[in-house]
Amino acid sequence: MTADLVVVGSGFFGLTVAERAASELGLKVTVIDRRHHIGGNAYSETEEQTGIEVHRYGAHLFHTSNEKVWEYVNRFTTFTDYVHRVYGVHKGEVFPLPINLGTINQFFRANYTPAEARALIAEQAGELAGTDPQNLNDKGIQLIGRPLYEAFIKHYTGKQWQTDPKDLPAGIISRLPVRYTYDNRYFNDTYEGLPTQGYTAWIERMADHPNIDVRLSTDFFDESQPISKGNVVGSVPVVYTGPVDRYFDYAEGDLSWRTIDFEEEVLPTGDFQGTSVVNYNDADVPYTRIIEPRHFHPERNYQTEKTVIMREFSRFAEKGDEPYYPINTEADRAKLLAYRDLAKAEKDVLFGGRLGTYKYLDMHMAIGSALSMYENRIKPHFEGGQALVSGGVDE
Ligand code: FAD
Ligand code: UDP
Repeated sequence: MTADLVVVGSGFFGLTVAERAASELGLKVTVIDRRHHIGGNAYSETEEQTGIEVHRYGAHLFHTSNEKVWEYVNRFTTFTDYVHRVYGVHKGEVFPLPINLGTINQFFRANYTPAEARALIAEQAGELAGTDPQNLNDKGIQLIGRPLYEAFIKHYTGKQWQTDPKDLPAGIISRLPVRYTYDNRYFNDTYEGLPTQGYTAWIERMADHPNIDVRLSTDFFDESQPISKGNVVGSVPVVYTGPVDRYFDYAEGDLSWRTIDFEEEVLPTGDFQGTSVVNYNDADVPYTRIIEPRHFHPERNYQTEKTVIMREFSRFAEKGDEPYYPINTEADRAKLLAYRDLAKAEKDVLFGGRLGTYKYLDMHMAIGSALSMYENRIKPHFEGGQALVSGGVDE
């Protein structure tokens, strides 16, 4: 085994670490992934019947305000000028999301000015004025008042998490902006766009280095192959981006995750819904949203005979399912603290990424956090002999 560094998982976190270590330090890096492809959840491929690029593990929109990350990702791809907008269906009517002046005026059948709308929402959120809500239910009501919360958040969140919003962290809802203008951009970030030639072309360019050896369909916990936990830990430094509870054999209990079932359908029409994402905010529709991927790339000359759509159904992940969203209840947070202690004590193994830190990281956050791990731990270790100890699973 000749690698200087082993990276478990070829998602954005793992590939960023591998690329930096190979390009800047000249290290030999072996990257393994148990899937048959690289890229983790950002992987995309062409749907055969339509020729349309489909994000295999759910719609992925790139956005960031981090200059360092933006400069870094532009080394591997250019970005289109796609700007993400989402619409939501409530009681058979389509509203612009996230909540903005357009949503408020349509919902209340009004013509409020920004100041009038602010005053109305402040009055409707009055029951929680001056508090600092820690859970999603109270935070949601405080942000937009009870009527809008019940129309657009309560049931969608119920379908997405199947957990009482009072038991969910407030941070989940703080991801969404609330605006008192008609601006319905979904993200607030400085930079936004989709990789011009698709996610897979971008990801392949990151891994395309003579010092990077990628081994697919290889599970770190399969002791019959050479790059396994038993064969590697202790002899070669490891960056592990799989689930942290799995690494420690669930010693502190299972962390809870949501998974998504995607129901894909090819339809004999050039346009099913006129936009890329439509949320279904009511309880009587079982799916959370419908994605129509052709609208992610209006600049491409896709054929107009057919389209492909995906309905998303969210449920608790069982062992064997893809863990997509950390649920992060009180009980999960207690277990996570125990896993952090174990991670700190694990010599020469660093834990990173969405699964390794049990954090709801967007792509730019995973890349940013990998760049920090590289600068603060990996580079000082290889250049100056600094001990390779994890800061816990909170890089
Ligand atoms: P991952 O991409 O999950 O990669 C981890 C890799 O480790 C996987 O390939 C896995 O197969 C591998 N692995 C795990 N265990 C083992 C093992 N035992 N042996 C070998 N390999 C193993 N972010 C955005 O910025 N915008 C979005 O619009 C967006 N939408 C999303 C939608 C969904 C449905 C999901 C789930 C995520 C979304 N994200 C989005 C988040 C984005 O996917 C993550 O930020 C990114 O994938 C994080 O990269 P990562 O490397 O940490 O993890
Ligand atoms: N959310 C909601 N209604 C919506 C959109 C989002 O209640 O129409 C809530 C829901 O709890 C969701 C969270 O806001 O999990 C974050 O939304 P986002 O669109 O960022 O979720 P993701 O794309 O990561 O699934």
